[in-house]
Amino acid sequence: MTRDPRYDILFEPIRIGPVTAKNRFYQVPHCTGSGWMRPRILAEMRGVKAEGGWGVVNTEYCSIHPSSDDGPYPMASLWDEGDIRAHALMTEKVHAHGALAGVELCHGGARMANLGTREVALGPVSLPNLTGDPYQARAMDKADIREARRWHVEAAKRAREAGFDLVYIYATHGYLLSQFLSHATNHRTDEYGGSVENRVRFVREILEETKQAVGDDMGVVVRLSAETNGGGGGDGQPVSGDTEAIFKLVGELPDLWDINVEDYSYEMGVSRFVAQGALEPYVDAIRALTTKPLVTVGRYTSPDAMADLLKRGVVDLIGAARPSIADPFLPKKIEEGRIEDIRECIGCNICYAGDGKGVPMQCTQNPTVSEEWRRGWHPEILPPKTSDASVLIVGAGPTGLEAAQALGKRGYSVMLAEATRELGGRVPREAALPGLGQWIRVRDYRVQQLEKLSTVEIYRESEMTVDSILEVGADHVAIATGADWRRDGVGMANPRGIADLGPEDRRFTPDDIMAGRLPDGPVLLFDDDHYYMGAVLAERLAAAGLPMTLATPSDSLSQWGAYTVDRWRARTRLMEAGVELVLSHNLVGFDGARAALVCEYTGRGRSLDAASLVLVTARRPRDELYHALAGRMGEGVPGAPRTLRRIGDCEAPAIIAAAVQAGHRYARELEAEIDPDNPLKHDRVFFEDA
Ligand code: ADP
Ligand code: SF4
Repeated sequence: MTRDPRYDILFEPIRIGPVTAKNRFYQVPHCTGSGWMRPRILAEMRGVKAEGGWGVVNTEYCSIHPSSDDGPYPMASLWDEGDIRAHALMTEKVHAHGALAGVELCHGGARMANLGTREVALGPVSLPNLTGDPYQARAMDKADIREARRWHVEAAKRAREAGFDLVYIYATHGYLLSQFLSHATNHRTDEYGGSVENRVRFVREILEETKQAVGDDMGVVVRLSAETNGGGGGDGQPVSGDTEAIFKLVGELPDLWDINVEDYSYEMGVSRFVAQGALEPYVDAIRALTTKPLVTVGRYTSPDAMADLLKRGVVDLIGAARPSIADPFLPKKIEEGRIEDIRECIGCNICYAGDGKGVPMQCTQNPTVSEEWRRGWHPEILPPKTSDASVLIVGAGPTGLEAAQALGKRGYSVMLAEATRELGGRVPREAALPGLGQWIRVRDYRVQQLEKLSTVEIYRESEMTVDSILEVGADHVAIATGADWRRDGVGMANPRGIADLGPEDRRFTPDDIMAGRLPDGPVLLFDDDHYYMGAVLAERLAAAGLPMTLATPSDSLSQWGAYTVDRWRARTRLMEAGVELVLSHNLVGFDGARAALVCEYTGRGRSLDAASLVLVTARRPRDELYHALAGRMGEGVPGAPRTLRRIGDCEAPAIIAAAVQAGHRYARELEAEIDPDNPLKHDRVFFEDA
């Protein structure tokens, strides 16, 4: 197949200063959770994106100096010779596929507490650490400013040596340069503070000096917020603060503008709260302010939407972080006319949690991300089968669907048995909850792939038993039967459960509500799960008109949602919906009319009216079938499989990304030689003269 001419515009080359990008697919800088620590994981991951057709592939934020250390978040760094060599691993891989490599040089200023390097933080004035660490920045004097300019230029030269084609000046997201730009954080009275011209001076100097030092060889990109005074994100002010004045001063200096907004929870908001293309009004307003090319992000996965943006002249390049993580081969698939094969990002932000946790990022849709080097997993190429063995997979949730499609692609003869009519397990149920509609893409991508595979037979309404599995007589059996939400209160705060929980029919679990069994009000929802489910169900029940209270032992709502940047918007949403929040309280009892809570700090009791109790605490693996079959395995019974595994939520309940990963891993490793002592290569920085 060839590409649809409607998309030709996406494949036109474009000049960025002295270099030319081969097409308009631009992977903007994005965090990976690997940074300076895992150069080979990064190099392979970025190289795979270039192979998948991205015309430009950038690093994540890359520190120019030890006074900008974001530890424990692993940012990239370009401090010395060893860093140059680490980055060269990436630029070589990116160049091998004809793409440009870019580096996002960064000084974090007062956003960095420098916990790792113990250098004193720097800022336009002595501000408290902007992310909450109890350290203040030193107000930079003129000598500091001169030094910081020099560090930037030196880092740009090192970037050139590492083989980069584009170099960023990072002037947004609350880092040092945006601290200087914004009157909220810059209260200086010298020529670097006060008027816009003064506040932009530092950026302008770095821009001019960088261009002079490397501008003949590298394109110089400035990343800027359309809201240069902070802004709330989505506050209806496309261009706010001094943006227009800034563009009058430096609008024609860079070779490319990368435009976004300060507020991460909007710029890279979860699909639950922020729609595709949310930044369009912002970049649209910038268009009138410069003749230089523009790029922005918008979680675009549809080629029609992308081509339309270019045709309307809103941007010159389609920026993408998450869509390039979910499908590194998105551009190639458009080029080859294989639109239906695109694995679309669902906007869950599990990838971003890798940065917050300091681990190689994971993706709900793409189980191979960060595994390209250490496990040798290519997103599009699976090793062919090594025998004619047959495989039975029981359960067609995200685990079973992923395992079946990956095994089918390997060429194995696969039977996928699902108890219900519907495929997808937990996915369609959860996707029907408020704001989670795009999650259905997890099922749809896999079902679409399965439909093309002659190697996989799907059996719906086929609830398997030990006897029926033995009757099938498959060589390998994987049990992917999922998990059920618990009704006994067992969870993090109550590992032995809650003794007194009142009448069964007054108690509800997420499974009940997703199946349409709604409680009567007033409702107490007890969230001891701490991710999205509690808040999403509270929103669902409040929308049904039920008086709602959400209680949690945690100090914050949806605490884990800090890693996916949705917990703050979740809280606003619930407060606006009239849901009462009772934080830092554990549930100790319920009798069908009242619930008893206890403060986690003082032990003081509190009682609430509640006609129904919703328990969002933990899940119980549905593993009875696995154990029953395992019990028969040693008996030499006819039809017993050679191997039996339980995978996904049935093995250990977790997030959907973990289920997809489990299914994929099972498929990759079936009949493969994997050293159990060394299942993956261990990346680390090791450059002997660094
Ligand atoms: P996971 O996230 O691990 O994929 P899910 O709970 O989403 O788990 O999906 C498990 C699937 O397994 C559900 O669709 C469920 O209907 C199916 N299932 C459970 N028990 C059986 C069984 N005995 N036979 C066939 N399918 C089953
Ligand atoms: Fe998209 Fe979620 Fe994958 Fe991130 S983890 S790229 S948000 S699907």
